[in-house]
Amino acid sequence: MKGPTLALSLSAFSAAGLHFLRMDDKGLFAACLMLPLLFLVRREWARYVLLTALCSMAAMWIAVLIQISRVRFQMDEPWGRFAVIIAAVFALTILAAIFVGRMRFGDSGRALPGDAPAFVAFLITAAFLALARAKAPFTVLLADRAVNGAGWMFILFISAYAAWIAMLMVENRATAKLRLRIWVLFAAVFFAQLFLGLLGFESFLMTGRLHAPVPAVVVAGPLYRGEGFSMLMLFASTILLVGPAWCSHLCYFGAWDALAASNKKRSTRPPAWFAAARPLILALVAAAALLMRARGVSGYHASIAALAFGLAGLGIMAFVSRSRGYMAHCLAWCPLGLLAVLGGRLSPFRIRIDEGCTDCGACSSSCRYDALRPEHIRARSPGMNCTLCGDCLASCRGGFIGYRFPLLSGRRARTAFIVLVVVLHAVFLGFARI
Ligand code: SF4
Ligand code: SF4
Repeated sequence: MKGPTLALSLSAFSAAGLHFLRMDDKGLFAACLMLPLLFLVRREWARYVLLTALCSMAAMWIAVLIQISRVRFQMDEPWGRFAVIIAAVFALTILAAIFVGRMRFGDSGRALPGDAPAFVAFLITAAFLALARAKAPFTVLLADRAVNGAGWMFILFISAYAAWIAMLMVENRATAKLRLRIWVLFAAVFFAQLFLGLLGFESFLMTGRLHAPVPAVVVAGPLYRGEGFSMLMLFASTILLVGPAWCSHLCYFGAWDALAASNKKRSTRPPAWFAAARPLILALVAAAALLMRARGVSGYHASIAALAFGLAGLGIMAFVSRSRGYMAHCLAWCPLGLLAVLGGRLSPFRIRIDEGCTDCGACSSSCRYDALRPEHIRARSPGMNCTLCGDCLASCRGGFIGYRFPLLSGRRARTAFIVLVVVLHAVFLGFARI
């Protein structure tokens, strides 16, 4: 069964690839040749993707058949032989889909809990990136900026990456290490782009201009300039979708604080005055931005001020987060983090502690965001700083901590959250601009 399935699929993907090559789309041609690599992924989600691709290609052949036959018929050109060839390719593609549909991937021979979420993450990521690539007024994808036309292969790669992470996260309750790794990778890609921009490759920078890569600028920038709200809107849309998860999965700066804090296996408890520090910093940053605008301070000097603020934050990471195990920068210094946790209340996603909790406190030190103090545990609800990171889930032996979403079971709420946050993570990685 495997041999014929592979042969049929390779032929179907090659035929579609050649069609795209004829239309001078080398990127789609290469992506079609890459798709069979999914046979190497021994999981059902990969089979669902292959099946979807083959069915889409079959639909494409019907559209090609109708369109070109009609044109040839109207121009009174011979179309019969052409129709037979396309019909044969269509039949080959459908046969390949039937064979793939009957095949089982993986050792278990059945779908595991992470397969359906992984497939959904793949589809949404691919659809979003393809749409953005087609509609954006500039070269939006990272790969297209590096190698012209590489976008389709990149979409395939990033979507498979999203599927893989979603699968791992859904199937493992202990996701702290994985989350840290993918978050640091994400931040590293962003900063690599920044350095390329600094070296003079301007296409790697947002709108071709250099921006200070400091989250506070997302708030202060529009106040200083009186325009340029795109980053703030992007931030707000992630808040609506996944609440404060910006600060546990999506921020290119917070990843370094998480890395610094991970130097300690467990978090200690931050001082109580931390809670007052961030509102004060937010007020000061906003006031400074407005003052600089009123005084007509140049963009150059405003950027220097923003970079100095960012460098001070890096110092906090290096000297406080590293030695204490909590995310000192994000908890006390970053004004955007405060907006994330406040705005995050708009999203229905929550972490809750079940009534069965024994108040043992084992989860407390797994939270690097100071959201599981004894009073929070007694209230069965994490504190305001919770970023929905999910690190505490595995620390509760009784499994009393979990995600909640109205009308969904705890398991489904967690799966939905993971799919959404992974898609955002992958899509942002695909854009990766500072
Ligand atoms: S607190 Fe600030 S630096 Fe930390 S993750 Fe949130 S936005 Fe990023
Ligand atoms: S309470 Fe749990 S989910 Fe919330 S920030 Fe702390 S460890 Fe993360």
